[in-house]
This record gives sequence, structure tokens and C-alpha cells, in this order.
Amino acid sequence: MNLPEIQNEYPLYDLIRAIKGVDPMFASSYELYLEKKIRKRANIPTLFDLIKSFRNHIRINRAESKAPSHTAFVTLQGDPAESTTATQFSAKSTPLPTRPCLCSKIHLFSACPYIIKQIQPVG
Ligand SMILES: [Zn+2]
Repeated sequence: MNLPEIQNEYPLYDLIRAIKGVDPMFASSYELYLEKKIRKRANIPTLFDLIKSFRNHIRINRAESKAPSHTAFVTLQGDPAESTTATQFSAKSTPLPTRPCLCSKIHLFSACPYIIKQIQPVG
């Protein structure tokens, strides 16, 4: 008997938690979606799927709300280490990161300049 290949969903929940600080509505609905997938033992989305969905969501929202195009996040296009957004994110809380991130460094997804760059509505 072959056991089904189980993808670990915990990194996804980490990222959802990080997104909650940016967009609680999206985070909660994605959480439900993910939970349904897990319950059905269906293939769960990858971290990249989640980031892609979130970016699409932002794009749609921005188009709808006609948000002003000027934003502090443009600084993220430069050096992520220098970014004020990254420090805002990581200053919130400092639980100990235990798993390597998408960028293979040990830190929380919510403290990752790469992921923050992905999930922020960069203009
Ligand atoms: Zn990282």
C-alpha cells in the first residue's frame, strides 16, 4: 500500500499569517480554501501559488479602487535590506524562526525581504 505524498502545509500557514498583516480578508479566505484542500486530501497549493494568488488579488483590488500610484514601497525595488517596510514587518513580533525560508535563509516568512517584495503592492 502506497501512502499518498503529503505536502507540508505549515509554511503556507506561516505565509498566510504574514499576509494577514497586509490583507486580513485575503488571508482568511485563503485559509479556508487551504483547509478545504487539506480535508479533501487534495493537492495543496505551493508557497508560490499563494504568492501568485495574492499578487493577482492586489492587482484586481488596485484596479477597482484606483489607488494612488505613489507608494513608499517603491523603495523595495532597491536594496531590500535597506527597506523600511522590511523592518516594520520584523519589528512587530520576534518569534524564533525554525525553518528555512523560500530564499533558504533561516527567518520567518514575514521577515523575508523577498516575500515582502512579492506580497506588497509595488507600484
Ligand atoms: Zn527569506
